Amino acid sequence: MVKVVDGSIGEGGGQVLRYAVSTCALLGEELRIYNIRAKRQPPGLRPQHITAIRSVAVVCGGSVEGLKVGSSSIVFKPSKPRGGRYFFDTGTAGSVSLVLQSLLPVLCFAEGPCEVELRGGTNNPLAPPIDYIREVLLPALRRMGVSAEVSLVRRGFYPRGQGVVRVETQPVDRLRPIEAVEAELEVLEVFAYSCNLPDHIVKRMAGTAESLLRKAGYKDIVVRTESLGPDDPRNAVDPGTGVFILARLSNGLTMGFDSLGEKGVPAEEVARRAVDDALSQLSTGAPIDKHLADQLIIWMALADGESRIRTSSMTSHTFTGVEVVGSLTGARFEVSEGAKGVQIVCHGIGLSR
Ligand code: ATP
Repeated sequence: MVKVVDGSIGEGGGQVLRYAVSTCALLGEELRIYNIRAKRQPPGLRPQHITAIRSVAVVCGGSVEGLKVGSSSIVFKPSKPRGGRYFFDTGTAGSVSLVLQSLLPVLCFAEGPCEVELRGGTNNPLAPPIDYIREVLLPALRRMGVSAEVSLVRRGFYPRGQGVVRVETQPVDRLRPIEAVEAELEVLEVFAYSCNLPDHIVKRMAGTAESLLRKAGYKDIVVRTESLGPDDPRNAVDPGTGVFILARLSNGLTMGFDSLGEKGVPAEEVARRAVDDALSQLSTGAPIDKHLADQLIIWMALADGESRIRTSSMTSHTFTGVEVVGSLTGARFEVSEGAKGVQIVCHGIGLSR
């Protein structure tokens, strides 16, 4: 059956496209999507989206019409996802984490193990830093039965990217549902990183983040800094910096809050942004951060049974994910907002390989 998706629904951005392509690849159904990224300026496909779609098409032996920069519609015909070794390059600083957003489900449902090298940006604005994929998304997916390792070989920042990430997956037969409604905070970990910048930047970021968290009453805090220079193989080709705050929870899962350095923005301000984000999430007591909520939608829809998560707020990305993936798969979502955040229940379709 041919599935038709209006790319302008909800967020009307890249996520509608990534979720639609990934879902149809797994269902083995043809996809026609139009109005791609209609709510973004400029609209249509950007290089990062092309890499995401192409990578899914390659892994599942599919074909795509209309795959060029600026295109507002594509026709995607998938076949079966196959294991193997793959290499994909955004060719720009396009986010490898966003490429993974559509590719990872397909890799996990491939017939055999996959080894993938991805090149591009590892730490981008408005996208999950690779640290988030490794330390927040993957632990949640492992809980659902996913067997995947993501390693960071080299960081990549705007403008040239050229970061390198390796991904290894083992086939999964069926995904287990996830339950994350209540959990206590155990420890906060502050990680400040930089490439090709003076050491004092990470020290100032880490120091500010720690003192703001202590001021807010948090005592259990571990701080780590990493300042890479030209003699380290993990060093990026361009300068870049950021701070990533990881919250470890009593249920074994984590939440992540990050802020990327920007030219002209003091290190202290970069740290403050990540801390503000962390404090606003932690004040709700919900154990799933707002980004993880939208990133789990496709996995919950595919899982075998009822998933139940509680997040701090219902973002438009999460609404959009529910709408796109829910209508393509037939998985039923129930969303209820209350004083303690938002509960999302999903009756997954139990996709099997
Ligand atoms: P567009 O194509 O519309 O320009 P995009 O392709 O960059 O945008 P969006 O549709 O905006 O993608 O989706 C961005 C994704 O990145 C969402 O899944 C969102 O949860 C995630 N994300 C954004 N910022 C963060 C962050 N700081 N930490 C974790 N995840 C993030």
